Amino acid sequence: MILGNKVRLYPTKEQEQKLWQSVGTARFIYNWTLARQKENYKNGNKFISDNDLRKELTILKQDSLNWLNEVSNNVAKQAVKDGCEAYKKFFKGLADRPRFKSRRKSKPSFYNDTSKLKVKESSVLIEKVGWVTIKKNSIPMNVKYTNPRISFDGKYWFVAVGIEKEQPLIESTNESIGIDVGIKDLAICSNGMTFKNINKTRLIKKLEKRLRRLQRRVSRKYLKNKEGSKFVKTSNIIKIEKQIKLLHRKLANIRSNHSHQATNMIVKTKPSRVVMETLNIKGMMTNKHLSKAIAKQCLYEFKRQMQYKCEFNGIEFVEADKWYPSSKTCSECGHIKPKLSLSERTYICEECGCVIDRDYNASINLSIYELVV
Ligand SMILES: [Zn+2]
Repeated sequence: MILGNKVRLYPTKEQEQKLWQSVGTARFIYNWTLARQKENYKNGNKFISDNDLRKELTILKQDSLNWLNEVSNNVAKQAVKDGCEAYKKFFKGLADRPRFKSRRKSKPSFYNDTSKLKVKESSVLIEKVGWVTIKKNSIPMNVKYTNPRISFDGKYWFVAVGIEKEQPLIESTNESIGIDVGIKDLAICSNGMTFKNINKTRLIKKLEKRLRRLQRRVSRKYLKNKEGSKFVKTSNIIKIEKQIKLLHRKLANIRSNHSHQATNMIVKTKPSRVVMETLNIKGMMTNKHLSKAIAKQCLYEFKRQMQYKCEFNGIEFVEADKWYPSSKTCSECGHIKPKLSLSERTYICEECGCVIDRDYNASINLSIYELVV
């Protein structure tokens, strides 16, 4: 199976300049691809294949776009491919019309040619950039790599690469674990493990407060420096916006780490099976009060991590049918309540008199999903 591996890069000043050059090229070519498809579509023609666009590009490279030769050929190739894919999806009605990537809003990233990626103990070769330092042995050597992608998160540079790995054989217990995810806690497991909602911790609350304060400050400054109907970016505004970006990054990292820790701990108990519910986030998001809390809780991300870690460790991962009444069923006697409101935090069974925490009850029901007991 293929495992993702994301590693921080430590480029020199000159290398960093070249990385930015590749990022700029990727964005430019992506936008160029969209513009060509758009114009073509307007003239009533069919989709231009990415092969034809690449041929066009090769000709332009000898002339008006000769600066493209300064970055790796593959950066442009992939950007054309991405642009074409986005357009194809739009044609098939699977996505909205693709938008142009702006310098400000798009995530800086580009691809490296898989066959040209080379890895040494503490450096990695990025085309036209050179050997960039990485932490010792952070990328395994002499394995098959796929899809190397370089990105910048607002503070650091990273290389992400898929690595072919053999599945480790772990001796699992016979336990089937049900996991109920939610807003009060991130996850409650049928084996008694509970993982708190990280957004309720003091650290996150403090950081969010700081973020809100900065956001207020920046919007005040925009209003104050308005020239007529035009908003002006002062150096002060740029400075605060940079701080805001870094805070967003920090929050995202803390949340992601928390999720990784939780999923790792669950996997370490070596269950034979993990059952989770089908997340109806779209439905939950329509509730205005809950939507913000759910977005921050990153439940999809938690489930995604759980799933691939199970797969990697040979643990069966099961998604319970979305109509499975994990919350309404009494885990003691099997009675199903006709109605259970969200505010009822404790499950009280009117059949057998069992009193149990609502989420814990749900996790037990998930753990026995489709098992004959
Ligand atoms: Zn009962």
